[in-house]
Amino acid sequence: MNIILMGLPGAGKGTQASEIVKKFPIPHISTGDMFRKAIKDKTDLGKKAESYMDRGELVPDEVTVGIVKERISEDDAKKGFLLDGFPRTIDQAEALNSIMQELDREIDAVINIEVPEEELMNRLTGRRICEKCGTTYHLVFNPPKVEGVCDLDGGKLYQREDDNPETVANRLEVNVKQSKPIITYYQDKGVLRNIDGSRDIDEVTKDVINILENL
Ligand code: AMP
Repeated sequence: MNIILMGLPGAGKGTQASEIVKKFPIPHISTGDMFRKAIKDKTDLGKKAESYMDRGELVPDEVTVGIVKERISEDDAKKGFLLDGFPRTIDQAEALNSIMQELDREIDAVINIEVPEEELMNRLTGRRICEKCGTTYHLVFNPPKVEGVCDLDGGKLYQREDDNPETVANRLEVNVKQSKPIITYYQDKGVLRNIDGSRDIDEVTKDVINILENL
């Protein structure tokens, strides 16, 4: 079961990824997480990736493709994997294709969680965080009992700098531009599975699991 998970920021990709790996014995491979860990551990990979990540740019393909190839060749990924955050470019998609051919495997499905951009704006700009304990709230989906105050310790709630509407709109635009060609690429290959991600989390999960069970 070799799966790619796609979705714009706020679409619920992280939530669905954790549901998938609870249900199926495959590792969740997130290139973003791998880079963040490498930077924290101060490895060579971390040193290579850090400046790009700081600038919000893509890490060069020769680095990214290399770590993905290594990771999906590891023992725990032999029966399958859930790729998240990769591929981000057509070159990466082509490289993944070659790697899979070499390993005599193929991508079985690309799960694309779709949510209208307007809804994503609501989701992403509504987040509030407690300045004392870091608990996350949402103005619409998970509001605190008292506006602006943490339920747990009375701490003041604040909005992260990168959750403001202008920055969010920007982030979405960049992501849409990046993901469009990838979506078309996998649609042409006949493995794209679009899922309506604007519904309740449980319903989305049910659909995702159903697709994966029937591969
Ligand atoms: P993410 O957590 O997926 O948003 O990734 C965080 C950062 O890691 C990105 O902004 C890039 O700098 C880097 N990154 C993650 N995945 C890739 C990829 N497939 N290709 C290039 N850079 C990536």
